[in-house]
Amino acid sequence: MYYNSTQNASEVVSAAQAIAQGISKDGGLFVPQSFPQYDEATLKALLKEDYKGRAKKMFSDFLTDFTAEEIDECVEKAYTAAKFGGDNPAPMAYTQLGGKQLNILELWHGPTCAFKDMALQILPHLLTKSLKKTCDGKDAVILVATSGDTGKAALEGFKDVEHTKIIVFYPMDGVSPMQKHQMNTQEGQNVTVCAIKGNFDDAQTGVKNIFTTPAIAEKLAENNMLFSSANSINWGRLLPQIVYYISAYCDMVNDGKISFGDKINVVVPTGNFGNILASYYASQMGLPIARFICASNANNVLTDFINTGVYDKNRQFYTTMSPSMDILVSSNLERLLYKLAGNSDETTRAWMTALKSGGKYEVTDEVKAVITEKFFGGYCDDAQTQDTISRLFEQEGYLCDTHTAVAVNVYEQYVEKTGDTTPAVIASTASPYKFSKSVLQAVAPDAALPETEFDMVDMLNAKTGMPVPAPLASLKDKKARFSDVTEVNDMPQYVLSALGIA
Ligand SMILES: *Cc1c(COP(=O)(O)O)cnc(C)c1O
Repeated sequence: MYYNSTQNASEVVSAAQAIAQGISKDGGLFVPQSFPQYDEATLKALLKEDYKGRAKKMFSDFLTDFTAEEIDECVEKAYTAAKFGGDNPAPMAYTQLGGKQLNILELWHGPTCAFKDMALQILPHLLTKSLKKTCDGKDAVILVATSGDTGKAALEGFKDVEHTKIIVFYPMDGVSPMQKHQMNTQEGQNVTVCAIKGNFDDAQTGVKNIFTTPAIAEKLAENNMLFSSANSINWGRLLPQIVYYISAYCDMVNDGKISFGDKINVVVPTGNFGNILASYYASQMGLPIARFICASNANNVLTDFINTGVYDKNRQFYTTMSPSMDILVSSNLERLLYKLAGNSDETTRAWMTALKSGGKYEVTDEVKAVITEKFFGGYCDDAQTQDTISRLFEQEGYLCDTHTAVAVNVYEQYVEKTGDTTPAVIASTASPYKFSKSVLQAVAPDAALPETEFDMVDMLNAKTGMPVPAPLASLKDKKARFSDVTEVNDMPQYVLSALGIA
């Protein structure tokens, strides 16, 4: 199987090249040229496998230049029971709210308590093997722009992985105190963490610019290094996310919640569009998904896009209590557009060029028609988010984080609006303890808030009885190692200095 750039279809690479390179030279994203087709027999066979078995099957179908032994090793190292608190790293939880069934896919049982671990625990293994295949002997420099969760998950995944260095940039005022503390206390010899004076989009644009500046690439090459990406634009991030949608379907069949062959909907709290795109790719392989419900917070650029076909990032940016979704440019949407435009690199390039120059583009009527048929876009604000957390906890005793609450709220809106009762899988993307303050305010609105983040964690634990994940509890006594802050314009210089090649 081969991959090509969304902005230049003649740039064709192997899976290992796509993963090693991260982003294509023309600035486009690598997409598979075809999707493995899972017929009834293939999906039925997966019912009997555990998560690792399902992952191995799917990885081997997409990464055809990897040996079975290599894939085995990557999967076995990534999804251990020790790291994910059990044999199924992505378990289902079943509850309800106001008479609506909620099938919640809990993706946050990994070492950093957010769904990014599902991909970032395996990406370093895929990447080191990819580098060995494509450019043996070089060190990979991983640059990450994060809205909070990716940064920590990438640091944890790459720490002390041979032949890699990782530099993480986060928006100074755009992440939660717990996220900041998680990153600034990161251990490992090959890690650097730096805040930027700007928002997530500034960080992401800054990283993209560094990637595509030839002079910087040359400087790295002279020093036997090359850039790679752990952001969700890397194919090695997306592929692991396809696995859990297919696995969730299998689990729901095995749990008697749906019958084999039944259609499902998916509901995804969306930021950079990676998670929801993975569910779309699963459907391209044959998973019977009827509707993709895209949930946003006050930064509702995707809601508007789905409803109008116009993507317009020229709007106010809001800092919300679901910071991992505070995004105005959803990078992975480019991959969906490429597919919906009939795999046209020319059309995709035109839209992305318009986005870069004027911050806006409008898709064709054909593309609009498919989007309206398959996607539903909705959003809610912070008050609705907290109201949802509170109702779900008071009525059902189920505690969810702010991002998951956005998804639940938009799902409620969807059912009210459409009457569609197709069973829905709701992606739950973080532990409530990563956003203790907002969750605590939702479930104990009258309590006086304690001062420190860890006192809030303790109070939330006392109020709800939900166990605090061990990786968060252990941060309490850790000292910060990093405190650098840089201007967006100085990011290239910062990178060269951090690598010792300025
Ligand atoms: C990253 C993240 C999201 C958004 O996921 P995308 O793949 O970027 O759409 C949602 N919730 C949480 C908790 C996240 O960390």
